[in-house]
Amino acid sequence: MLNTTNNRFWETKSLKELSKEEWEMLCDGCGLCCLHRLQGEEEDAPILTTRVVCRCYDLQNGGCSNYPERFKLVEECTQLTIDRAAEFDWLPPTCAYRLRYHNQPLPSWHPLNSGIQSSVKPYSVFSLSPVLETENIDLEDFLIS
Ligand code: SF4
Ligand code: SF4
Repeated sequence: MLNTTNNRFWETKSLKELSKEEWEMLCDGCGLCCLHRLQGEEEDAPILTTRVVCRCYDLQNGGCSNYPERFKLVEECTQLTIDRAAEFDWLPPTCAYRLRYHNQPLPSWHPLNSGIQSSVKPYSVFSLSPVLETENIDLEDFLIS
């Protein structure tokens, strides 16, 4: 959702101070949090990212194909809330919630800064040749980091 006011809340407010609407607007829609990740058994094993996107992702138009029902449809889908902000380091480094949690500015291509939703595209799942999750897919074949 683009900001239509002159209120640059994302620069002046902390995550805790955001209204529900502002919290939602902070998401740039990159879809990188919808990619499957793998982690070894060891406690400090790194989290590896794949280019396999959740089965509910809409690869045609971008975004979740059923946002209101996402937690019912996909058990692993994680709700990002302020209470869980300390766990945000699994998110991509460009994620707006992670950046603001660490008091970092949003990039110029973030739709709130650019005023254009499509400016996120080169930084989104679409830049990674994403593959939709299927039943027998081997995630290890699609590791990107
Ligand atoms: S990674 Fe962050 S900014 Fe990108 S879609 Fe997910 S929550 Fe939104
Ligand atoms: S259910 Fe929707 S929001 Fe959740 S990971 Fe899948 S595509 Fe993303």
